[in-house]
Parts: sequence; C-alpha cells; structure tokens
Amino acid sequence: MQQRYNLIALLSLCLCLGLAESRTRPKALPITKYVYTTGSSSHVESLLGTSRPSPEAYKTVRNAFAHYEESRSLGYDLELDSREVQANETIMKAKINEYAEGEITPHLFNPSQHIFKVLDAINKTELFQLLRHMPKGAVLHAHDTALASTKVLIELTYKADLWICQQTGDLSAEAMRFAKEKPAALTDAGQNCDWSLLSDVRRERGAEAVDEYLAERLTLYPTTDFLDNNDAWTKFMKIFALLDGLLMYAPVWGEYYYKALEEFLADGVQYLEFRTLLPTLYDLEGTVYTPLDTVRIYVETLNDFMSKSENSAFIGSRMIYAPLRNTDTEGMLGYINTLKEIKEKYPDFLAGFDLVGQEELGKPLNVFIDQLLQVPDDIDFYFHAGETNWFGSTTDENLIDALLLGTKRIGHGFGLVKHPVVLDLVKKLNVAIEVSPVSNQVLQLVSDFRNHPCAQFFADGYPVVISSDDPSFWKATPLSHDFYIAFLGIASQHADLRLLKKLALNSIQYSSLSADAKYDALSKWQMKWDEFLDYVNNVSPNGATSYSSHGQSIIGT
Ligand SMILES: [Zn+2]
Repeated sequence: MQQRYNLIALLSLCLCLGLAESRTRPKALPITKYVYTTGSSSHVESLLGTSRPSPEAYKTVRNAFAHYEESRSLGYDLELDSREVQANETIMKAKINEYAEGEITPHLFNPSQHIFKVLDAINKTELFQLLRHMPKGAVLHAHDTALASTKVLIELTYKADLWICQQTGDLSAEAMRFAKEKPAALTDAGQNCDWSLLSDVRRERGAEAVDEYLAERLTLYPTTDFLDNNDAWTKFMKIFALLDGLLMYAPVWGEYYYKALEEFLADGVQYLEFRTLLPTLYDLEGTVYTPLDTVRIYVETLNDFMSKSENSAFIGSRMIYAPLRNTDTEGMLGYINTLKEIKEKYPDFLAGFDLVGQEELGKPLNVFIDQLLQVPDDIDFYFHAGETNWFGSTTDENLIDALLLGTKRIGHGFGLVKHPVVLDLVKKLNVAIEVSPVSNQVLQLVSDFRNHPCAQFFADGYPVVISSDDPSFWKATPLSHDFYIAFLGIASQHADLRLLKKLALNSIQYSSLSADAKYDALSKWQMKWDEFLDYVNNVSPNGATSYSSHGQSIIGT
C-alpha cells in the first residue's frame, strides 16, 4: 500500500511541476532560444552560446553533447573490468560487422526482416553464438505452455494412449487427448473431427510426415504476413488449444516443465518467472484435480530439478498466476480466491498475479478495479499492459491502470512511449518494462526491429528486462534470439557489453525474489559470468572470426 500512496504523492508533484513550467515558459521564442530554454539538461545548455562558435569550439560542444546523451543510456553506469573490456572487443567486433553490412544492404540486415525468414541465418552469426553462451540472468515474462522447443513437444506425443482428432482423410489435428478408450467425436463449437490413436496415424502415414506436420502446426510458421494482429492471435490461440490435451495430462505436465527448465538453463537462463492459467489437469484414472494440484506438481518438479547436481547453477523459478482476462465479476472473484489459496499454501512459489489473453479483445483492467483493489497487499501485480498499436484505446490505457494499481513490472508496455506521465513514473518508481521483441514482431505490432519503441527505453535508461513470451511458437531459443535482436536491431550501434550485462543484472534485480535471494542469485550468475568471460577471451583471443567455426556446433535447433 505504501507504494500506492507514494505513487499518488509523486503524481501530484508531477502535475504541479507541469503546471508551473507551462506558466513560466516564454511564448513566441525563436527556435534556437526555445531549445535553450526548454532543454532538459543544464550540462548541455551551458555549452550552447548565443553566437556561432569556432569549428574547434563546435567540436568540443558536439563531443560533450554525444557524451552526455550516451550517459543517459541503459548500462552506462557500469564500469567494465579488464577481462570485460577484452570480451567487449570480441563482442563489438561481431556486432559491428553485422551492423556495417546491414548499412550497405539494409534489406539483408537480419533485424530488418521477419524472424521466420532469418532464424537459420541468425543461428550462424558470430554474435548469436556469443550470446548463446552469455549468462543472461532471468526470463521474467513467458507463458508456461509455450516454453519448451518443438522437439520436446514431438517427443511427448510418442507417449502411449495419445489420441488425435482429425477430419476424415486429412492429417489436420484439431485436438489431442490421452485416453484408454476412443473418446467421442468432436462436433460442436466449429469442430468436426474424429479420434485415432496417434501411434496408428504414424503407422499409416509415416512417422516423419506426421512429425513434420505437428512441428509446423505447433508453431506460427510459416506465415509471416497475417491479415492483421487479430488474425495472428487466432492462429496463436489455436496452438494453445491443440496443446491443451497433450500438456494437461498430469504425467506430462511436470515433465514438460522439467524439460523446459533444462532448455532454459542450457541457453544461459538461470531463473524463470512464468505466467500460468493453472489449468485443471487430468489422467487416465479419472482423478479429480484442482488448480492447487497443478501448483503442487510445479513445486515438486522444481524441487526435483534443483536437487540434481547438473542443475546447480540454476537459481529457481516462480509462477505468476495469470488467468484469462475475458471473464466477468464473478469469474474475477473466483480467480482472487484461488490466488489467496495459492498464497497460503505455496507462498514461496507464488510471485504474483496478472491477467492474460489478447488484450485488445479481452476486458481492460479498468473493468475489474473494484475486485483488483481487494487483492491483499502482500500479493504483487505483474500486469500485461499496452501490448497494442491503438493509441488511446482501452487496451492502451491499461498502462495507466496497471501503474495506478501498483504493478511491479509492465508486461510488454509497447504503447508506453505515447504516455509521458506513465513513462515518468515508470522510471521514478522503478517499474520494470518486460520487453519481448520477437513476440511483438510475430504478433504484428512491429515489422522492422529498428522501429521498436524499446530503442527509446535503452537510449534513456529505462528499467528494461528482455524476455521471450512464447519462444516455442516461433522456434526461438529461450532467450538468446530476443537478446540478439535487442542488442543488434534495437539498441544503438554504440551499445556494448555494458548494456548486455545491465540487462542480465536487471532481470535479477526486477524479479520477485527477496533481497537475500537476489544476493544468492547474483553470486550464481557471477560464477557463470566469469566462465563466459574466460570463454570469450580464451576461445577468441584474436577476435570474433576465429570463434565462428567452433561456435556453430552448439546450435541443435
Ligand atoms: Zn505475455
């Protein structure tokens, strides 16, 4: 509650200052004087004279100007030690090579193209190989049924008793389900299919053809150009629907999570805070499961994972309970009851609360203010907000409600740059922005990453963390592809290892972990960071070129 009171005080202060400024701002000034009068930096203002400077003086002012602007960028406050300086040279060489080639042939620059078209090419770049090895800290924004690779999903479909619902004579899959006996055909809600054992379908049509079909059906590939973002979301939601019967089978649920954690750790992610709907699971014995059982399976699986010596570098994982936003008052009260039960039974595993589903077609936060204000103060909010291009829409204004409700982080915040007061407060209150670049492109909010609004967040030192949202659906690695895009395509050419390190540190700082746990987390990350520096500096003592042939072998996807 304290934070909310502070927020209101801060908001009042901002409003007062704004009024005072507009009262005192002189009107009808020539443009040069206007810059002088309203420029936000006294450092820069003091350098600007009233008459034309000599070329030498101009050069001095320009250097100071550039330096000052850079000093506001994310990561500038970090100082690199000698090992980091050496690693930085290798990393920047790899980055600048790609950047410079891109300037000559912009249409071939990987971040200017759709990720589906350039994924293989990215995997072969020196920069991506380096980023794969980098300990990137935490993923703080990802959805639990879109974590693991397609490879893991296909392997899970080889389990016994899995049925697939298809239209006659067609390989298409509308649903999957584990059952001892053949389930009844699906004929309602636009579905019209009948069930066959997947093992029989594989025998008839060949395992390779079936696996190839499923591998595509479980991602958004190959479409790079949906009609609009609603069209992209429709296909996106169909993948979740197809996965439901496979993943909600209780014996599979924990296994999927375990395999996802393995893949995250292998990609340099040591901590995961995931959103979950907490679906009701099922099994072949007809056991009745509750959402609390789903949490129990998560906790047991995580404990098992953490107990293995090969996973000793892993920091942990927590869940954000995030049910569907398209509900009514009664539904929301039901969510809040479940939330309180989880908090009581699994306080260490619960990070907080959010609402999910396409923001633009779901209900805005504003509809549920009365209920959300009833959530106890010791449960934090981590709201999706502003995942839209519609300036001024209710979805866009979720940003205001998320902030006023005291959200600890903002999921996406794509529309933030259009809300100056929200932006001011995000920085003052240290509310992290969870940016998932690849997701924003695939779901059609931005096509060329160089136009991503996060460029402003980087340039002006906003509290940003980079995340991956649903990496499984775009065949991306758990975090490396998003880091590659953010570093090469969104950040300045000049952004270097300090930005990368800052993003990793931010992901721990802005996690829901307690201060003590963050301290332990940072020491686990530091060990990996030291290994990374040794790796970059030893493997590539003469520059990035010698790294390439070695690095390519680590990519299995
Ligand atoms: Zn999300």
